[in-house]
Amino acid sequence: MTLVDSLRTEAHDLGFDAVGICRAEETRYWEAFLEWLERGYAGAMQYIPRRREAYRHPAGVLQGCHTVVMLALGYSSGTDVPPAPGRGRVARYARGRRDYHDVVREKLRRLTDWMRRREPEARVRGVVDTAPLFEREFAERAGLGWIGKHTLLLDRRRGSWFFLAALLTDLILPVDEQPSLQHCGTCTACLESCPTDAFPAPYQLDARKCISYLTIEHRGPIPLQLRDGIGDWVFGCDVCQEVCPWNRKAPAGTEPDFLPQPELSPLDLRSLFELDDASFKRRFAHTPLSRPGRAGLLRNAAIVLGNQRAVECEPQLCRALEDDDPCVRGAVAWALGKLGTARGRQALLARRSVESDPDVLEEITAALQEGKWEG
Ligand code: SF4
Ligand code: SF4
Repeated sequence: MTLVDSLRTEAHDLGFDAVGICRAEETRYWEAFLEWLERGYAGAMQYIPRRREAYRHPAGVLQGCHTVVMLALGYSSGTDVPPAPGRGRVARYARGRRDYHDVVREKLRRLTDWMRRREPEARVRGVVDTAPLFEREFAERAGLGWIGKHTLLLDRRRGSWFFLAALLTDLILPVDEQPSLQHCGTCTACLESCPTDAFPAPYQLDARKCISYLTIEHRGPIPLQLRDGIGDWVFGCDVCQEVCPWNRKAPAGTEPDFLPQPELSPLDLRSLFELDDASFKRRFAHTPLSRPGRAGLLRNAAIVLGNQRAVECEPQLCRALEDDDPCVRGAVAWALGKLGTARGRQALLARRSVESDPDVLEEITAALQEGKWEG
């Protein structure tokens, strides 16, 4: 068996669903990337511009890199139904029992170990998500699919419910390069369905408006004008993938660590308000939900409860007006304004008399003025 054939077999045995190989070359999207940064679309993800030059070529990640092996691992979790009030939706990729970074990294480590055993002189590095590499571009070049108008990679058979990972090496391997075939055609479903209008144009994403960015990466209060669009998404968002016709028949992922956990599908929001820092860490350590931190997740939960007009969660929200974190208090004030209950109004008035944070005071004042209060 050739090295490449054995590599494919090894990757499949480790659970990867697809393997594609391409040359390590300078990115084709350099100018578009610079423009994207220039427009501020990366938001507060400062690690992107900080490592800007490294994105130019895979050699920025592995010196002397000649070949990129792209790998796909599916996580599809079937159909979804809107959750009842008091519960929030978690993006499908995060519903498993373990963080995909850990799971994929473990598989990649085993694959790189295998490569090193087989080719002891070779330089090899496995990366998932966090390295300065345009994984989607190289996956497209390696024949794993095409970049859709929603900026994600998709494939006619697998849809877009999969993770990408890369194995870089200085070995020169035979490549699978294929002409990039676009199958979006005249479809614009993803662009039209985005609840926060995060696509300024096809193939362009303004991360600052994307619910995934807002609920996971963004720190501090979520801009007022985007809160309604968040709907019931407490962590991430799948809307642009859910509407994509290529996902209708996508096969379900089989990796046991990614099977949806009932407690995350959907997530009980009330219970989140019972968590202090220590219990938050205990509950969400080793899951992607730890990324926004306790304050970020409670902020998101408050916004979802406000959007759902979840009056049954009023007691939790009233208590959370006393939370130590001003970002949580601000979001809770907004949510109570949406609920419009008499008790919520009283709680806001009481908090206003002792609140010292100017941003929270502003949220409370706005909620009191704009809420449609009962009675
Ligand atoms: S993930 Fe959601 S918010 Fe982000 S671009 Fe897609 S539809 Fe819009
Ligand atoms: S929804 Fe339509 S335009 Fe968007 S990625 Fe899917 S096929 Fe392409």
